[in-house]
Amino acid sequence: MINKNGEQQALFPYNDPGQLPIKPLRQPNGQWLRLEIALPGYTVWLRAWEVQVGRVKLYLLDSNDAENSPVHRGITSELYGGGSELRLQQEILLGIGGWRLLQALGIKPEVCHLNEGHAALAVLERARSLMDETGDLFEVALAITRVGNLFTTHTAVPAGFDHFAPDLIKQYLGQYASQKLGITLHDLLALGRQNPDDESEKFNMAYLALRGTGQVNGVSRLHGEVSRQIFEPLFPGWPKSEVPVGYVTNGVHTPTWDSMPADDLWTEACGKERWLGTTESLEKHIRGVSNEKLWAFRCAGRKSLVDYTRERLSQQLAAAGDLADAIEQAKHIFDPNILTLGFARRFATYKRPNLLLHDPERLLRILNNSEHPAQLIIAGKAHPQDEAGQALIQQWIKFIRQPQSRARVIFLSDDDMFLTQRLVQGVDVWINTPRRPWEACGTSGMKVLVNGGINLSELDGWWAEAYMPELGWALGDGKEHGDDPDWDAQEADALYCLLEQQVVPQFYERDKHSIPRSWVARMRESMARLTPQFSSNRAVREYTEQHYMRAAQAYIGRANDNGAIGREVINWKRAVDKHWSSLNIGQLRVETKDHEHVFEVEVYLGNLGSDKARVQLYADGINGGAPECVEMNIAHLQSCGPGYCTYHATASSERPAQDYTPRIIPQHPGVAVPLECAHIVWQK
Ligand SMILES: *Cc1c(COP(=O)(O)O)cnc(C)c1O
Repeated sequence: MINKNGEQQALFPYNDPGQLPIKPLRQPNGQWLRLEIALPGYTVWLRAWEVQVGRVKLYLLDSNDAENSPVHRGITSELYGGGSELRLQQEILLGIGGWRLLQALGIKPEVCHLNEGHAALAVLERARSLMDETGDLFEVALAITRVGNLFTTHTAVPAGFDHFAPDLIKQYLGQYASQKLGITLHDLLALGRQNPDDESEKFNMAYLALRGTGQVNGVSRLHGEVSRQIFEPLFPGWPKSEVPVGYVTNGVHTPTWDSMPADDLWTEACGKERWLGTTESLEKHIRGVSNEKLWAFRCAGRKSLVDYTRERLSQQLAAAGDLADAIEQAKHIFDPNILTLGFARRFATYKRPNLLLHDPERLLRILNNSEHPAQLIIAGKAHPQDEAGQALIQQWIKFIRQPQSRARVIFLSDDDMFLTQRLVQGVDVWINTPRRPWEACGTSGMKVLVNGGINLSELDGWWAEAYMPELGWALGDGKEHGDDPDWDAQEADALYCLLEQQVVPQFYERDKHSIPRSWVARMRESMARLTPQFSSNRAVREYTEQHYMRAAQAYIGRANDNGAIGREVINWKRAVDKHWSSLNIGQLRVETKDHEHVFEVEVYLGNLGSDKARVQLYADGINGGAPECVEMNIAHLQSCGPGYCTYHATASSERPAQDYTPRIIPQHPGVAVPLECAHIVWQK
C-alpha cells in the first residue's frame, strides 16, 4: 500500500492453505505425501499440495511442516526474500525435491522443462535417479537424461542469473556430489562455471541448466539474440550466431485476460471453441466485425474500467486514512469518454516507469488539453528491497497529488493479476517503456490485444517482432543505448510527440457516426493479427512441435537398450576430448573456374577417426544474414595418409574465396554440437 507520504509499504498477508483452492496430496493409503530432503546436518520435510488448474495438475512443495525446526518451516515462505543461503535452500528443495516428488508419484516424464535456472538442480537429481536404476556413472546418466531436458532462459542480463559462492555449494551439495552422484566437488562446480579451474568463480545456475539440457531457448526473437551473446563465453571459438540458443516467444492465455464483452464478441465472430485448438481462422473472422460494433465494444470496456477505478480508488484512499472529501471525489473521478492510457507493471528501473514524467508540464498539457484530454492509470509495485524502484512510485504519487493532475491521473496500489485483468480489459492504449534490450519478452501488452487495446511500446521484447505501423505505435530506433540519460530524454520526447501528434488526435478524429475510423482500423488489425500470434495456443504448440517431441524422442533413443547409446556418446566424447588438441588444418588451396571455387585442404586428425569430426568451410553472413557453412568431404580413400586426410568442397564464386575459412567441429549421430561438445578448430 501507499502511505500518507506517498511511500510504498510492503505487507505480507499470510496465505492460509485452508482458504486457497489447493488440497493436500494424499497417497493411496490416505496419508499426506511428504518428502524428506537432506540438507547439511539435518533433514527438511516437505509437504506436497495439489492444485487442479483446468485440465492440468499442479503440485506445490511446502516446508511448513510441524516436523521441521521453525527456521526450516520458513524456507518456502517467501519468494525473493533473504540472502543467497536461503535462496540455495529453496532451489535445492525445488529442484531436487521437485524431481523426487514426481518419482514418489510414479510419474516418469520423458521431458522436463526448466523455466529459468532456479530449478536447475533437477537435472542432477534426474541423472541420479537413473544412476540408481542402471548403475551407470553420473557422466553417462547425464548424457542420457539431458537430451530430455529443455531450458528456457528469461533473463536479459547476466546479473539476473542466480549464482552461489563455491563454499556455499560445498556446504550444501558437497556430500550430495560425492555420495549420491559419485563426482568430486570440483566436477560439480565445473557444471556451473565458465572456467572449471577458476576456484573463485561462482556457481551459475543458468550454466548448470545449459549443461544439463539438450535444448535452450529465450522468450522472444530479440531475447534469443541477447541470450546467444550472454552464453557466448561458454562456446569459445564459436561464432555468436551458432551459440545454441533459440527462441519461443511467450504468449498469454487469452481466456484469462478477455473481458466478458470480449468473450461475447469473439464468440460471435469465431465460435465458442476458438481458444481450444489451432487459431489460423481467427484472424479472418474477427476482421469481419463492423466498425460500429468494434467501437461500441471499446467504449463499453473503457466505461467499465472507469467504474471499477472509481470504486477501487475510493477504497484505497479510505484504507490509507484519507479525508472523506477525497474519498467522495474519487467516486466521480475520470470520464468514460476520454482517451484512457494505462501503465502497470513491476516498478523496476529498467522499465523506466517514470519516462512519462520526464517533462511533467508537457504531460499535464497532454492530459488537460481542453478539447482532446486524456486520462492515465498507473499501477505497480517495487520489490521491498528495491529502493530505486520505490522512489519511482513516490515520484508518481507526488505528481498525482498536485491539483492540476488529480483529475486525470491515478495510481492504483496492490497491483496483481486481478487488477491487471481489469486494466487490460479497459484501456485504449497500453504503454511500455523498457530500456532495450532488458525486457526479455514482456507479456502485459499481449493481454490488451483480445480486448481491443492498442500497444505503444519500446521496440523491445515481443514488441520488437510484433510491431508494424498499422498495429500500434513504437518507441526507440531498434538499437541499444545503455542507460544514457540523453537517450532517455530523446525517447521521452518521442513518447510525448507520439501522444500529441498521433495517439490523441486519432482517438478524437470522428466520422459522422462519431467513430474514429483510423483508430478502429488499427484496433482491428491489432486484434486480428496479434491476438492469435501472441497467445499461449501458439506458444505451447511451438514448444510441443519444435522442442518437446524432439526431446522425448532423443531421450527415449539414448535410454534405450539400458542406455547403450548414452554410453556410446560418452565414449565418443572422451575420444574427442583426448585427441582434440592435436588437430590442425593445412593450407587451403583454391581453383576457380566455371563460376565455382574448388577448395582442397589437408586436415590432420591424428588418432581421432574422421567419422568423429566434420570439416567445414565457414563464411560470415552477408549484411547480417545467416553465415554460410559448406561441408568438406574426403574425396576418396587414397586421399588419406598417416594421420591426415584431404578434404574437398565447392562453392559458388559469387563470393571471394578468401571469405571461406576451414574449421573442424566434433560430430556424432544425435549429438547436439556445440551444446554437448563445444570444441572447434579454425585454420590458423
Ligand atoms: C502480466 C503481468 C505482469 C507482467 O507484465 P510485463 O509488462 O510483462 O512486465 C506483471 N504483473 C502482473 C500482475 C501481470 O498480470
